[in-house]
Amino acid sequence: MSESSPRIAIVGSGFAGLGMGIQLKRNGFDDFVILEKSQALGGTWHDNTYPGCACDVPSHMYSFSFELNPGWTRMFAPQPEIRDYLERTADKYGVRDHIRFGAAVESMEYDEDAAVWVVTLAGGGVLRPRAVVSGVGALHIPSYPDLPGIERFQGTAFHSAEWDHSYDFTGKRVAVIGTGASAIQFVPKLADQVDRMVVFQRTPPWIQPKPDVAIPKAVRGTFAKVPGTTRAFRDLIYWGLEARAVGFTIDPRLSGPQDRLARGHIARQIKDPELRAKVTPDYTIGCKRVLLSNDYYPALARPHVEVETTGITEVREHSVVTADGREHEVDAIVYGTGFKVVDAMADWRITGRGGVKIQEAWADGIEAHHGTTLPGFPNLFMMLGPNTGLGHNSVVFMIEIQIQHVLSLLRQMQRRNARTVEPRPEAVRAYNDRMHRRLRRAVWTEGGCDSWYLDENGVNRSLWPGHTFEFWAGSRKARPGDYIFA
Ligand code: NAP
Repeated sequence: MSESSPRIAIVGSGFAGLGMGIQLKRNGFDDFVILEKSQALGGTWHDNTYPGCACDVPSHMYSFSFELNPGWTRMFAPQPEIRDYLERTADKYGVRDHIRFGAAVESMEYDEDAAVWVVTLAGGGVLRPRAVVSGVGALHIPSYPDLPGIERFQGTAFHSAEWDHSYDFTGKRVAVIGTGASAIQFVPKLADQVDRMVVFQRTPPWIQPKPDVAIPKAVRGTFAKVPGTTRAFRDLIYWGLEARAVGFTIDPRLSGPQDRLARGHIARQIKDPELRAKVTPDYTIGCKRVLLSNDYYPALARPHVEVETTGITEVREHSVVTADGREHEVDAIVYGTGFKVVDAMADWRITGRGGVKIQEAWADGIEAHHGTTLPGFPNLFMMLGPNTGLGHNSVVFMIEIQIQHVLSLLRQMQRRNARTVEPRPEAVRAYNDRMHRRLRRAVWTEGGCDSWYLDENGVNRSLWPGHTFEFWAGSRKARPGDYIFA
């Protein structure tokens, strides 16, 4: 292998890619590169800069367990603070020098004879690492709605993940399309600036109060000075979040308190019965991601803000038209319409043993062993792969478990002097059958909503069905019997 081809290539420098790089280094695997398509590290926490962008999982939990941050200024830190934390952490553990910026991976093909991956970069560079770790995540390609006339719009239009900070919303008439996790964070901020706002809602989300408070300086000082306090606080948050999830992980009928909390929130924050009815979901809570906000409903209740629930039929040069023929004239459209989750995976150009494309391997549905490895794709490790997403706790916790899984495989390869590792198909089958039996009864499938968690057959390919400690117990160490070492 040439000098320019390190033994391991990691794709992406978000929480997953950085975490993997740091742990490789700490465990003596120094020969790796992190390929980052943009010019800065941080992944989604670099890309998303919309007003109000913040974490919706408490920051003490939404951070690495090996790099606690006593200095979080709020329970739910704003985006710049999370981005700075990642920058700082990359420097502290010396992985910045491993990052190749502006290196977008175009394709990855397994070369069976040499037992290496041929990683081709946009612009033509080629690397031939022994192993590849994908840390690309699911939420990085903006999804624009497929609306007739969308390209005709003459005003300003952009997606929440590509915010145009040069555009001054002061005094403007604005359409917001989408009411998901991103929109509920920027709508209240925009409402302060604009002259008029129409929020186009297709499905209302369930929203609960956000227990977001500033963490006083004295408390941060205690976290910094008194050993064990930051970890104890994190543990407290962890178990609180797990307790909240019994309705999702055990039985939707246990979600009563969650449902009452969300309905009470609407009743307290919105007085107008018509608006209340519009924003009250008709599906079981937890079926879609439960959102947290204290300022979204009050923003919708403001006189210059309107919630439009009639479907959009067309976009014209200066307006958005709904199915009842109403034409909303606007100066700008902001798309809070989420990310291409399924399409993004369909576009992956990954070819395994025997020229099998990853889409062919997944013809019967997207699945992996412990969300991480795939038969026929030796030495390919996926962070946040199939069924590792969460609705109730921090995905950083899941990422760290997957990193341990990969490290345990790399150590076993070293011990056995093996060039390759891949899971046994029967182990993958058993793991996924067990998980999908459980998912069939879960709220995401039975809760009466449609979401990006489900594939075209209504099968949940995104979320882990249980408590996160179950994933920790079962997945942090790879079982040698589940794998073929060669
Ligand atoms: P999202 O949750 O997928 O929401 C997209 C919104 O756009 C939904 O309201 C959806 O309506 C609507 N929409 C999509 N296509 C539409 C169309 N053609 N016409 C009308 N409406 C349309 O996307 P997101 O808000 O960007 O969030 C994505 C994920 O990012 C979240 O689930 C979360 O995991 C993550 N996130 C996290 C944070 C955080 O604080 N940690 C913040 C933001 C986002 P339907 O519901 O009807 O499909």
